[in-house]
Amino acid sequence: MSGIVTRFAPSPTGILHLGSARTALFNWLYARHYGGQFLLRLEDTDQARSTQESADNILSNLKWLGLDWDGDVVIQSQRQKRHQAIAQQLLDMGKAYRCYCTPEELTAMKEEALARGLHPTYDRRWRDRTDQPNAPFVIRLKAPLSGEMAFHDTVQGLVKVDAEHLDDMILLRSDGTPTYMLAVVVDDHDMGVTHIIRGDDHLTNGFRQMNVYTAMGWAVPSMSHIPLIHSDDGAKLSKRHGAIGIEQYRTDGFLPEAICNGLLRLGWSHGNDERIDQAQAIAWFDGTSLSKSAARFDCDKFLSLNGHYLRQRTLSHEGLESLWHDVIHEPLNAAAVPDILSDAACCIGKSILPALAVRATSLCSLRTQLIPYLTPCLENAPVLSGDDGRLLSVLIPLLHGLSPWTADCIEEFLRQWAKTQSISFGAVAKPLRLVLTGQPISPSLTDIMVALGKEITVLRMQNSIDASPCA
Ligand code: GLU
Repeated sequence: MSGIVTRFAPSPTGILHLGSARTALFNWLYARHYGGQFLLRLEDTDQARSTQESADNILSNLKWLGLDWDGDVVIQSQRQKRHQAIAQQLLDMGKAYRCYCTPEELTAMKEEALARGLHPTYDRRWRDRTDQPNAPFVIRLKAPLSGEMAFHDTVQGLVKVDAEHLDDMILLRSDGTPTYMLAVVVDDHDMGVTHIIRGDDHLTNGFRQMNVYTAMGWAVPSMSHIPLIHSDDGAKLSKRHGAIGIEQYRTDGFLPEAICNGLLRLGWSHGNDERIDQAQAIAWFDGTSLSKSAARFDCDKFLSLNGHYLRQRTLSHEGLESLWHDVIHEPLNAAAVPDILSDAACCIGKSILPALAVRATSLCSLRTQLIPYLTPCLENAPVLSGDDGRLLSVLIPLLHGLSPWTADCIEEFLRQWAKTQSISFGAVAKPLRLVLTGQPISPSLTDIMVALGKEITVLRMQNSIDASPCA
């Protein structure tokens, strides 16, 4: 195993959405590419906004996406004592100090700065004081007072900020709880994180965190700040743009491999390759080729990838079994499948699935197409009268006697029979298709007849002539 350690560090204050899933994916791929470790940490320092529901959502959707993590999930709040110890250590080393400003003082400081047209930062009034009143205090880091701070970001290049733009940030609040800025550095250090890939909304935090690393004399991990995902209208992707939660993509019938492939292409590229499966992604994702410009989310691309992966699954026995499992059991926004499926229904369903997948772009549409094949009779069987009805009545005994019941044999028979009746093959196929599937469009008629089997084929034809209740 290499020494590479990446991590995904979501705050459980909301669900796993496309942007955070992409961050997880990139860190996961990087670790897997180099044979390193991918760690998971729940950053619940904001106890008021953190919820178990969000944590559950994040974990279950990561699992669904196949982004497995190494070791146990680290819960940030359980490491509070360690964070406090580091704050104390910084204090002891003279690299941090106690600040006794009251909230009123801070507000007044802010207003005054704003009134003078200045950036409202803390004025460091306690930085060099040595008195220790018997009053609540916070612990602040002594940030550099002047000069330029710079670090090399693998995506953004050399990034710089004037030290005067960063104030002496709070490390420990007056109630003794650590701030995110302290906890994230201590945890990354303790967890041995070597590479951090995250959204560029954390770039400024990067400078602040750098100050903690420097003060502690710790090695700084490699930093990669990736541009956020934008929608096709150019704005930052948000709820306004519809589905952004991974869970919703799942219930909308997306496959995890399609989501991962789609996310991979948002901000990373390998030539013009669009379809990149997991194995290929692991082989190629070496941390280079991360884009510096914002990626645009395109739902149609995700749908087309989804269609591709639905069909991919039908190409192997295991893939087909997993597709069958998902189309039946996934919690989809689609009609429910019958509670109990007979062996015959499963057999018919599995054999027809590859043909149905040709046209499907989601598990939902696939399930909708599949349902008519899962029961012997169609729920709303069409009733044909007139010429079509007569055609069915004549065909029933002929098909009943047909042998062998193979696609070739059925097709040959129907073509010959159409000829003898001086009608086109289409004129025979159309009513048959309708009574067998309930739909005017379907996969190959003879494939359907083979999948349904002779008995059910004949039964459905029968039901559509005399409309007798299904036996
Ligand atoms: N907890 C932070 C967030 O959810 C991420 C922190 C980080 O990646 O450094 O945005």
